[in-house]
Amino acid sequence: MIIFLDIDGVLCTRRSHLAGMQQGGMMESLDPIGIEMINYMCAVSKTPTYIVISSTWRILHPDLPMIFRMLGLRGAFHPKWKTPDAFNKDANRTLRGDDLNQWFDENGKDDYIILDDDEDFYDDQKERLIVTDFDNGISFENFKQAMLLLTDGNEQWWKLLGDNLPTGWLSANKQKTLTGEEHG
Ligand SMILES: [Mg+2]
Repeated sequence: MIIFLDIDGVLCTRRSHLAGMQQGGMMESLDPIGIEMINYMCAVSKTPTYIVISSTWRILHPDLPMIFRMLGLRGAFHPKWKTPDAFNKDANRTLRGDDLNQWFDENGKDDYIILDDDEDFYDDQKERLIVTDFDNGISFENFKQAMLLLTDGNEQWWKLLGDNLPTGWLSANKQKTLTGEEHG
């Protein structure tokens, strides 16, 4: 399982910058809650799950895996942890969908999900795409969408987290809240 991860509009957002802007650095501005959500995504799938960065950050920051590790990301990066930069002649620009296809050509096809605030993907890829909000990044609703895709629609996905389950999530009320059946 591959998680294609964009950064701006997913983990680096206007929302996260409100907390990080005093220091001004990107490390203070990445959303720590979003990073924890990625950790749970990496833990829930039955197959080994690897992160591949699709963001333009992959070009600007060669040390991204280390930076993410320092920020608390525990999920594994794929050895080929960034997508290639595939130029689309017809569109006269790069499209994320082409980047993904080229990455699969080079590294073999695998199941995947995509976390991105943009939608320049092909129709089949959009079925695996979770669209985040540029200002706010990954929401809890996005998190649930991801967990369902990662578990083939298992509506009790949190049970698959085992020892990685956050403390307190097992109470009946919380289970209902997580599935959206009931709130309060
Ligand atoms: Mg983005």
